[in-house]
Amino acid sequence: MQPIQLDDWNFMWINGEQVRLPESTDVINPATGQAVGQVPRGGEEITRRAIDAASQAFPAWSKLTPMQRAGYLHDWADRVLADRENLALLLSVEQGKPLDEARGEIEGVAVFIRWNAEEGKRATGEIIPAVRPDQRLLVFRQAVGVVGLITPANFPAAILATKAAPALAAGCTFVLKPAEQTPMIAIALMQHLMETNLPAGVANLVTGDADAIGRTLSADPRVRKISFTGSTEVGKILMRQAADNVKRLTLELGGNAPVIVFPDADLDKAVDAIMANKFENCGQVCNGINRIYVHADIHQELVAKLADKIRQLKVSSGTEPGCQIGAMIDSNYLAKVEALVSDAVGKGAKLITGGSRLTGGSYGGGYFYQPTLLDGVTPEMELTKKEIFGPVAPVQSFTDEAEVLRQSNNTSYGLAGYVFTRDTARIFRMIDGMEVGNLAINGTSLAYPQAPFGGVKESGIGRVGGRQGLEEYLELKYVALTHE
Ligand code: ADP
Repeated sequence: MQPIQLDDWNFMWINGEQVRLPESTDVINPATGQAVGQVPRGGEEITRRAIDAASQAFPAWSKLTPMQRAGYLHDWADRVLADRENLALLLSVEQGKPLDEARGEIEGVAVFIRWNAEEGKRATGEIIPAVRPDQRLLVFRQAVGVVGLITPANFPAAILATKAAPALAAGCTFVLKPAEQTPMIAIALMQHLMETNLPAGVANLVTGDADAIGRTLSADPRVRKISFTGSTEVGKILMRQAADNVKRLTLELGGNAPVIVFPDADLDKAVDAIMANKFENCGQVCNGINRIYVHADIHQELVAKLADKIRQLKVSSGTEPGCQIGAMIDSNYLAKVEALVSDAVGKGAKLITGGSRLTGGSYGGGYFYQPTLLDGVTPEMELTKKEIFGPVAPVQSFTDEAEVLRQSNNTSYGLAGYVFTRDTARIFRMIDGMEVGNLAINGTSLAYPQAPFGGVKESGIGRVGGRQGLEEYLELKYVALTHE
């Protein structure tokens, strides 16, 4: 494979300026295991400087009209789209995903920005009928203030947009911390935001020590909210830290999504939808299918159809033409998948296809794992309880609707669920019974700019997307106005 040369992204964005530090950290191309760039290794001090800048910029930014803010946002979206090919390449090389998926993600960034630019114009207030003739009861919606945005490595461009766009549209200023595996795409997207002549300090980005940056954002009372997407473990740390100054939180955390395929489902449609969801982004999707429950009557047929499709998936570096499954984000993610599959096989799961790491030849030192299908999975296996976050499809069979509903809810997570059936009464029983924030029926696509995506139980607090996603960056101010 030809070594890929990327631009220099070894800087942060503070107060509208590029800031370099003496110390930096390598960014690894997961398809080769080799460094493709560096970013600065910041910590407490630089984070405080970023908060200072965001805090100084807040009064003026929040006083602009939503139309003025939408102007910057649309300009940002235009610039992102105009640079789509470079951004997609950077995303694919840094993160590992197929170039086509990376292009789709960058297009999604622009759609998300535009949707929020427009929704910001509808942050309307209310007038409540008063009990006294000399009073007016008014409700205003005002920007929360400075917000801390912490993003993960699986959709580093899209998730940045799902936070930065509503924050800016609402009138907030921010300090963003991207994931250590994928900081460069964030720095590049910020470059385009800066090119809109955004006022200095409105948008800031820091890289480096996650723990130190997280603590500094949490401890500073000027940061009025943290929006985080990542693991439940880190979400809990941030929640504890935020308690000290009663900071607002939006948490989009881990999942353990079940799909239930009933015997009356359109099987081919279910197989295609399961494939699209399970193997997108090499299975590193928070609402990705983690457990496949299939009715005993159609179990063998579904497994055979899945096996046939999974064996045909092309695994390669994301930048190779025709790639369907790229490298995993890093060696830790890969090691976790290896351990979960080995635990399942050790406890009696049947390996239908895949089941190992791919090395040698064009896979070289990259973090590749074979698309894998396991049958005969049971509730005792670790991959039934934990988020796999990899290209592994584990199948269990069931016979009773009430029992499969109980099993599917038997987890501390509650992000997404999927059901395939043509029975209307059963659809409503599933809508009522499934303990998830997002449910797809006869399909597996869920995340759209206009829809409120989020989890229940330990999968999170708050919503991303939709008018509810904008609300996360708005505070209510109620005014009882007495007049002559
Ligand atoms: P995942 O397991 O999906 O990689 P993580 O929760 O580890 O998710 O990471 C998501 C984001 O949280 C990344 O930007 C990471 O750097 C950041 N992060 C990790 N630990 C902390 C912490 N203690 N405080 C704040 N952010 C953190």
